[in-house]
Amino acid sequence: MPKNFKQQTIAIDTPFGRKDPYGSISMPIYHTAAYEFETAADMTDAFTGRVLAPDYSRVMNPTVTYLEDKVKTLTEAKNVFAFNSGMSAISNVLLAVSSAGKNIVTSRHLFGNSFSLINKTLKRFGVEAHICDLTNLEAVEQAVDNNTCCIFLEIVTNPQMEVADLKALSAIAHRHHIPLIADTTMIPFTKFSAKELGMDVEVVSSTKYISGGATSLGGLVMDYGTFPEVNRVIRYEMLFNVGGYMTPHAAYMQSLGLETLDARYRVQSQNAYWLANKIESLGCINVNSLALDSHPFHEMAKTQFGDTYGAMFTIDLASEEACSDFINRLQLIRRATNLFDNKTLAIHPYSTIFGNFSPKEKAEMDVLPTTVRLSIGLEDVEDIFNDITQALDI
Ligand code: PLP
Repeated sequence: MPKNFKQQTIAIDTPFGRKDPYGSISMPIYHTAAYEFETAADMTDAFTGRVLAPDYSRVMNPTVTYLEDKVKTLTEAKNVFAFNSGMSAISNVLLAVSSAGKNIVTSRHLFGNSFSLINKTLKRFGVEAHICDLTNLEAVEQAVDNNTCCIFLEIVTNPQMEVADLKALSAIAHRHHIPLIADTTMIPFTKFSAKELGMDVEVVSSTKYISGGATSLGGLVMDYGTFPEVNRVIRYEMLFNVGGYMTPHAAYMQSLGLETLDARYRVQSQNAYWLANKIESLGCINVNSLALDSHPFHEMAKTQFGDTYGAMFTIDLASEEACSDFINRLQLIRRATNLFDNKTLAIHPYSTIFGNFSPKEKAEMDVLPTTVRLSIGLEDVEDIFNDITQALDI
């Protein structure tokens, strides 16, 4: 594909690795577990990794490779791996870089399962969590030691909406010869250059913006080639020994989703921008949105990710009961988890996503009982606003 094609053309027109014998213009779904070889030598080459060719769909499949190739061209990553969920991508990457006795420098502001993966699951295998405030660079310097294997963060934390300085964190990580690993689920990877921001490895829950319409679960790992060991371990240990590679059907859905990502994101981020400002202007509801000029991380988000601010924000109501009443009164907006579906979704993170954390843990994570999270969809923005105001009963 010519180098100068723009992102939207790449998302639609990335050519297949091999010409389809029937001239299919959609990448077919290769629903097969195994592949036949012409010769014993070809088989050995594929199995030993001398030639990158599919041998078994636990580790490689043409439909999944097509999605990986598109993402590789879009992000300029050196290697892309597709997993069957965001959590699978995150756990495989963290398993690839850590080992007993090592520690991960991270924040308390993480998606609940990522927090639990690091603080419970990996802990059982001797990996420690060094928790600090990633917006405080001195605290980060102090948290990193000779056994730190990576700095891990989310580029926009949810539901707190915190944005750390990626270049500064990358500089700290690189001084200590460790990778900066960033979960970029909250802003599409087409909106910023991960490489320029200093990320070494990027992970994304492609269940969100990429799948579009909540069609399928998926996770992507973009490796920018700065720590070659990451590629080797994921490709030759994780995929083989742990499993978790994306299924061909999910990859098909997500390739289609990628084609419309830009069009959907333009509308969803604009809807979210308009709604956050409109609800704020009511004067009686506290809105936590990066789209607001007054937000403490507005400028940091703008500098790093451009002038769109994602399609998620939170509102704070008087009490936990007021949140339940608001959610129960919604008529259009769906009571559901997930982010960046085509449909607008509302959830009370305190009692659901973080429901199994203790009140003390939730307080430490700044997950409040008074917060409702809204993921804004593609509906007419005035209809969404009217549903919110009728549910607020104002
Ligand atoms: N990372 C973030 C920021 C998320 O919000 C989520 C899911 O909500 C995940 C990772 C996990 O992704 P998945 O649900 O695809 O496993």
